[in-house]
This record gives sequence, C-alpha cells and structure tokens, in this order.
Amino acid sequence: MIDINGSTKIFGLIGNPVEHTLSPLIHNQLAALMGYNMAYVPFLVTDGKTMTASAALAAAIPGAFTLGIGGLNITVPYKSAVLPLLERVEAPAAAIGAVNTLVRGENGYIGYNTDAEGLYRAMQDDGININNEAVIVLGAGGAARAAAFMAAFKGAAAVVIMNRAAAKATALAAEINKVTARECAAGGALADFKALPARKHLVIQATSVGLNEPADRAVIADPAFYQLVHTGYELIYRPSETMFMNLTRQAGGRAYNGLKMLLYQAVQAFELWHQTAVPPAVAAQVYRELQDINIKAASPVNRRYAGEEA
Ligand code: NAP
Repeated sequence: MIDINGSTKIFGLIGNPVEHTLSPLIHNQLAALMGYNMAYVPFLVTDGKTMTASAALAAAIPGAFTLGIGGLNITVPYKSAVLPLLERVEAPAAAIGAVNTLVRGENGYIGYNTDAEGLYRAMQDDGININNEAVIVLGAGGAARAAAFMAAFKGAAAVVIMNRAAAKATALAAEINKVTARECAAGGALADFKALPARKHLVIQATSVGLNEPADRAVIADPAFYQLVHTGYELIYRPSETMFMNLTRQAGGRAYNGLKMLLYQAVQAFELWHQTAVPPAVAAQVYRELQDINIKAASPVNRRYAGEEA
C-alpha cells in the first residue's frame, strides 16, 4: 500500500491505450522495495472535442513538467511524436528516433530510450551474447529499431532485418550502417531468409504478430526458417508463449519472451529518475511478481502453453 503524503513524487506513463500496462506494478514495487516516496500512475492522452491527439500531447508534456512530475514513460503511439517537445534527446534514442523515458532537465524533459538497453540487459541476464553474433531482427517498427540499433551498437557481426514492408527494413539497415560507420546491417523481405547462409542465428522477434491473440500465428511459419535459429528472443510477453517461441523450440533452439525486457526497460528508467542502481535481488523479486501476474492475466491458450491448466 502506497502511503501518499505531502512529499510524494508522481511519475507516470503517457500513451493510448494505457489500461493494460504493467508499468505501475513494476515502478510502485521497485519504489516500495527500495524505499522511495513516489507513486506511478497511467495517463491516457487522447484527442477530445476540441483537440487533436498531437495537440493533447503538446499540452501534456510541458504541463507535466510544470506540475513537477518527476519522470515519465512514453508508449504507443507517442514514442516519436514526443521528440520535438523535449529539452534534448540522449543516445541511443536520437539514432533510434524514439524515446520511452523522460527525465527532468532544467527547462524541460530529456528523452532516453531504455527499450534498447532493457533488451540488452534482459539478454545478458539470460546468458545471451551479442558481440560477434549473427543477429536477425524480424520487423522494422519501433521495437525492431531499438533491437537492431542495440545489436549493432553492442558489436553484432551482422544484423539482418526482415520485414513485411521490405523497404522499411532496407532503410533501417542503411541508417544503422551510417550511424555505426560499419557495413554490418542488411534489410529485406521476410522471405529473404531463404538466401541466408545455413548457419545458426540469434533471432529477435520484434513484429506485433502474436500479440494478444491465440498463440497459433508466427510472422514466419515455414519450419525451414527455424533451422537457422539457435536462440529465439520474442519481444511479446502476452501471451507468454508464442508460436514463434514454439517453432524455435521445436527446431531445437532456446526461446525467451519479452517480459524481462519489459522489466529492465523499467529498471533503467527507475535508475535514471532516482540516480540509483537497482540491486539484482530486487529486480529478480519484481520479475517473479510480473511472471505471476502475466500468467494470471493471460488467456486459457496461454495458460495451457505455460504449463497451467486452462
Ligand atoms: P510497430 O511500430 O507498430 O511495428 C509493428 C511491426 O510488426 C512492423 O514491423 C510490422 O510490419 C509488423 N507487422 C504487423 N502486423 C504484421 C503482419 N500481419 N505480418 C507481418 N508483419 C506484421 O510496433 P512496435 O512498437 O515495434 O511493437 C512490436 C512488438 O514489440 C509488439 O508486440 C510490442 O508489444 C512488443 N514490444 C515489447 C516490448 C517489451 O518491453 N517487451 C517493448 C516494446 C515493444 P510492417 O512494417 O510491414 O507493417
């Protein structure tokens, strides 16, 4: 139970929708375990009778700063739209072109992207190496951009981006090659896996295929693709077992979902806001609670995959 008093600092999440977010649970738990007097709440920012959504966002950000909101997370659909409303944007968010965390500066908020670092920390925690790895990223949306830049910045030997809209993947690869000044990235269509060398890859599944739907759809269904996968890292966490993970395991690979990435993007935001380091035991405790809630909130299909009775 949060004890609200005259010194309580407010933090929150801006997005649309925000009703199903797990961020309040993570941040309020971190605060309770680490002894911070704060409350983290969701803020729905949407259009109204006299305001467009972008006008609402443009009012919300300086309004939050004026109200003394200690820090904010930004989610869909505002991760890029918020950029011009910030005092400045820190690396790697500027390269990725999206921020998910705002930290108070002198005259406004400073933008960070903790999705990229959160994914990296999650992978490290799971014992997954990036340096010199051959990485495939499925998707070229916001999460895929964070994943692909992260892989390139952390020293992947190759980053192959494959997307339904192939031109988006090719453009992202060109951006990465320019920013990193090395020809490590290539982009193309989903079917282009057939032209890849027959070696095993680390694959990051960053499309929204499989999100909140019965776990019977994967962005690539062809079993031949999974012969190229030694590790399948799914960014979706609900359902906690997706068809991508299932197909990866069937082909003998290791598979993970996106819940740990969700945890660590929040942990890094918390650390930025409070200039602190979250001890591993605290992160592990919050993760256990997240897993519990994620399974309980899941569909019968998901509970069956997760080993529970439907
Ligand atoms: P986004 O910007 O809307 O991008 C969606 C991506 O999915 C695009 O590459 C899109 O391809 C692809 N896609 C959508 N429907 C498809 C279909 N039917 N067939 C093939 N490709 C399809 O979304 P996002 O923000 O990147 O999020 C992507 C996923 O990552 C979501 O499931 C989200 O929940 C997850 N995520 C997880 C975390 C975490 O902390 N674990 C953080 C952020 C995001 P086109 O370009 O061709 O449309």
